[in-house]
Amino acid sequence: MYAKILIVDAIATNRIVLKVKLAAAQYYVMQASSLADAAQQVAISPPDLVICAMSLPDGTAADLVNLMNDTKCGSAAPVMAVAPGIDAGARLDLLDAGVEDVVTDIYHDALLLARVRSMLRAHNAATEWQIRDDTTRALGIAESSLPFFGVPDITVVSTNPMLSARAIVDMRAQMTARLVSSLPDKALKRHNHTTIDSDTYNTDVFILFADMTNAEVMLSLLSSIRSHTATRHSAILFLYPEDAPMLAARALDMGVSALTHTNPDPRELAIRVRKLMHRKLLADQLRATVRTGLKAAVCDPLTGLHNRRYALPHLARLAERAGTTGRPFALMLADLDHFKSVNDIYGHATGDAVLVETARRLCENLRAVDLVARVGGEEFLIVLPGVGLKDARRAARRICRHIGNTPFDTRGGQAKIKVTVSIGLAIGGSLVDAAQATEDPDEAARALMDRADKALYAAKVKGRNCVTLSRPAA
Ligand code: GH3
Ligand code: MG
Ligand code: MG
Repeated sequence: MYAKILIVDAIATNRIVLKVKLAAAQYYVMQASSLADAAQQVAISPPDLVICAMSLPDGTAADLVNLMNDTKCGSAAPVMAVAPGIDAGARLDLLDAGVEDVVTDIYHDALLLARVRSMLRAHNAATEWQIRDDTTRALGIAESSLPFFGVPDITVVSTNPMLSARAIVDMRAQMTARLVSSLPDKALKRHNHTTIDSDTYNTDVFILFADMTNAEVMLSLLSSIRSHTATRHSAILFLYPEDAPMLAARALDMGVSALTHTNPDPRELAIRVRKLMHRKLLADQLRATVRTGLKAAVCDPLTGLHNRRYALPHLARLAERAGTTGRPFALMLADLDHFKSVNDIYGHATGDAVLVETARRLCENLRAVDLVARVGGEEFLIVLPGVGLKDARRAARRICRHIGNTPFDTRGGQAKIKVTVSIGLAIGGSLVDAAQATEDPDEAARALMDRADKALYAAKVKGRNCVTLSRPAA
């Protein structure tokens, strides 16, 4: 689908010049001549980006930002102001008011289109995350917490240490931030031991001072920042010489988050950093929500084990692989004995504590490659890849003893509770299984579960606290 761009300008020729450029680049262009006109258009068809004149007959670019925020569905479309001859103070006021960028001309086509692409990309990413966040919330599995505005970590990169030092002094007067300077080849060094989930050093915003002598070095650093695990979500502010629009266009297409000219007003750097931090924190937050949501979808919140939704496809994959390698695997269904009476005698909370302790003992007794999942109230699935009948039976008996021989201390002040478990065992990977698994892995997994379930029933009938093997498939 084409991105929709709304041009808002009272002067028809300005709109036409811009429209021609955007339409040639395959964008769908809408036009409005005033704020009121824009409001109508936005209500009918929300744009993905707005490009507007600094002043309109009935308002300014800043009013347009408010309009977009009021009528937003998902995340508000960014507004870019075109303001030839604007003075430095007014430009900063517009940026401060929420205008995404203020450009003084639109005559350099490559730079204009690179700006448009970059803003659309950022907006699409924000919208995409927003949708996923809404979905996880709708499923009731997202944790809601507001983004926390901590002190940003900023790395100022320049080939001229004097320039970085001066920028840092200027910025310190404008904002609270942890600022470090770096030469381009050292900028990623301190991130090298960082992984996605660790809290070790990370940069929130990189500020790259590019000039005509170091342009290639800076572009190469830019692509390294974007591909490095620890920094790919960092914001990048790219400073370029005014007479190098092609450099700016390349930097935008390589993923910088914002641009401005070299020798910027320190107030502008502060405004830019604040905006970039805001955007980054929202994106970080949404990513975390999605991660939490995904985890919640496949994990049991009580025991932390995987749930049935995860376990069955895992089993199907394992069955499929066993079908090609011929390696056996063992499947156990373990069900606590007379668990209902634990609840009846000690209460549901103690019952929960027993389930948690059972999960702990199961995991303690198995290898890292084995899967333990909670597939029912007091029923656990255990899958042991590469394990044949003899070892599986030994492991199952060991589990029975590990649960049954040591009464559970549920820290409720009561006497320790004797808990036992019955296990139904099935072995997968036979020739018959292999043929079925290659044809229909999901059905093969269901058939195996069924065999283990029948074996479990036999163990219950036999008197509980024991292991029973399923009859081999015919
Ligand atoms: P059997 O030996 O035949 O397996 O008997 P049982 O009592 O263990 O089996 P039954 O299926 O009759 O009862 C299972 C009980 O597990 C009933 C239900 O209240 C309890 N249960 C299921 N999920 C939970 C849970 O999340 N927490 C607690 N505390 N109890 C649960
Ligand atoms: Mg039971
Ligand atoms: Mg049961």
